[in-house]
Amino acid sequence: MTRPRFHRILLKLSGEALMGTQGFGIDNDAVVGLAGEVKAAKEAGFELCLVIGGGNIFRGMAGAAKGMDRAQADYMGMLATVMNALAMQNALEQLGVETRVQSAIKMDQVCEPVIRRRAERHLEKGRVVIFAAGVGSPYFTTDSGAALRAAEMKCDALFKGTSVDGVYDADPKKVATAQRYDQLSFHRVLADDLKVMDASAVALCRDNDIPIVVFNIREPGNLAKVLAGEGVATIVQSEE
Ligand code: UDP
Repeated sequence: MTRPRFHRILLKLSGEALMGTQGFGIDNDAVVGLAGEVKAAKEAGFELCLVIGGGNIFRGMAGAAKGMDRAQADYMGMLATVMNALAMQNALEQLGVETRVQSAIKMDQVCEPVIRRRAERHLEKGRVVIFAAGVGSPYFTTDSGAALRAAEMKCDALFKGTSVDGVYDADPKKVATAQRYDQLSFHRVLADDLKVMDASAVALCRDNDIPIVVFNIREPGNLAKVLAGEGVATIVQSEE
């Protein structure tokens, strides 16, 4: 399959990618591994924005399920994404990649607030911009944060790194005959409720014509391959 070439991309990583083989939290080796992947992408000439989830530390829904107020729990989830962003910033800078973290919740001592024009300047200077705290509001997820930042930063595509190599018609971990799609339309993802990202994130990408590339981030070297238009992935875009 030939895929379009991109220049500026937003990479969305779930918090779970940072926990490695641990059941919880941040595994430094996993973060260093991911930072290496990001560095390789940078060196291949891509401009990179990063959004990292917080599910390895705290998810609002999980808190609400145990009786917490949902909004309060969601704010805790957003704070978790800031911790992950700082861990990734640390790993990238130790590899010599310049970065800036911008948080949707102001945290002046820790990172910059989200300022689009400033983020633009960082990218021009070759820095990786890590957007933390999602959209800054409860009842959203970092998938929506990723779609929003991809749109406002005019990214050519949103790359979603997961633990499977694309989008399947059934859960490949449970159904042996599950088929992987090479390409899908936004419409199909929403109509069939395929688990790519949450619906609001998919709709935002559709409305702004931002393709979503779903690929396996756990396979070393895969981000560079997929960015080069090689490797296994599913691309979700306007036309099937
Ligand atoms: N969150 C939120 N608003 C946002 C982004 C995140 O309330 O704009 C909260 C929400 O509770 C979510 C948690 O932060 O469960 C962690 O983010 P997410 O679940 O998206 O992380 P991931 O699944 O990607 O690790």
